[in-house]
Amino acid sequence: MEKDWRTLFRDSAVRPEDLHGQFNVDPEEMKGAIEAFPMRINSYFADLMKEKGDSLARQVIPSAEEVQGGDPYVDDPLAEEADSPVPNLVHRYPDRVLLMVTTQCPIYCRFCTRKRIIGRPGIVSMETIHQGVDYIRNHEEIRDVILSGGDPLMLKDAVLEEILKSLRSIRHLEVIRIGSRVPGALPHRVTPELCAILRRYHPLYMNLHFNHPDEITPEARKACEMLADAGIPLGSQTVLLKGINDDPEVMKRLMQKLLAARVKPYYLYQADLVSGTDHFRTTVEDGLEIMRHLQGHTSGMAVPKYVIDAPNGGGKVPINPPDFVIGMNEKEVVVKNYENKVYSYPQVLIRPEEIQVHSKNDRPEPELNGGPVSSH
Ligand SMILES: *Cc1c(COP(=O)(O)O)cnc(C)c1O
Ligand code: SF4
Repeated sequence: MEKDWRTLFRDSAVRPEDLHGQFNVDPEEMKGAIEAFPMRINSYFADLMKEKGDSLARQVIPSAEEVQGGDPYVDDPLAEEADSPVPNLVHRYPDRVLLMVTTQCPIYCRFCTRKRIIGRPGIVSMETIHQGVDYIRNHEEIRDVILSGGDPLMLKDAVLEEILKSLRSIRHLEVIRIGSRVPGALPHRVTPELCAILRRYHPLYMNLHFNHPDEITPEARKACEMLADAGIPLGSQTVLLKGINDDPEVMKRLMQKLLAARVKPYYLYQADLVSGTDHFRTTVEDGLEIMRHLQGHTSGMAVPKYVIDAPNGGGKVPINPPDFVIGMNEKEVVVKNYENKVYSYPQVLIRPEEIQVHSKNDRPEPELNGGPVSSH
């Protein structure tokens, strides 16, 4: 790629005056928000904003709404610090951990769940990274690590490779994952050199952060193609954001474009309760409506899992539209398809003693045709 990512990154807008009064922003109004959470808009992403209006701009331009106060939210809504046995490593699930390897990102998203560390120096160091790697080495139950931050692709090639190499020296670690917004926000960072490094550490997966179809530019597609050609299975993560992608058609287009760029939609996140981000939050019903609009209406490959990351460290919980299963008993399951047509699927014939076991189940059995299964 012709442009050097370092130049694009160096030319980031970080001060109000760097935006030159564009996008209808009042520098005075932005100041408080930037003090609370820094601004970074690299010049590749800034150029997209000029062309495309504000679905991208709203993700990165500081607004006074962030510092209004009054929302009851907190800095660490997922209680990650409480699940950190060593600094910058979160061990929440039985067999996998999340390791934060930088606080840098190609852009700073105003709705970020990790605003508490993003863009702040002195939190991640080579020493904390080594502590994290040692923790994984000492815990044989860990078979999967997610490198995150911040954006791991903001590290220098040599540093990233050192981390990957030390992880790969751990016998029980099967899978390495990298979470990154780089392909959609600074695609020039995906160089042949980087891909040559990454492909040496398979099985390596990447989950890419994309929120709007306009982020999937020819450059972004090229970056995805290079990563996919390096043998890296690509998934995506999207945050449901009010006024940006909370529209079923916009979301469908995003998922279809991702799939066409060889990225398999993985998670759609309900927004977390991060302080100063209330104005981005939608209702869960909005999310369910979007899922109904995707399921059956477009490629199943393009349908992500919709999840709530439960407050206080409950972890990710899938949220499915309740209307597909209307009822279930020993004889049949009654389902409704995407066209609202109802079908019955007969159960396997069950012997009487098994029905006994079934009825001892403390889960309440929904009544067939006895009203909605869901509780809303
Ligand atoms: C999201 C997350 C993971 C990975 O979850 P998967 O469902 O396996 O993708 C692991 N650890 C933490 C702390 C997470 O937030
Ligand atoms: S790129 Fe990811 S980690 Fe960085 S600010 Fe955006 S959401 Fe947060």
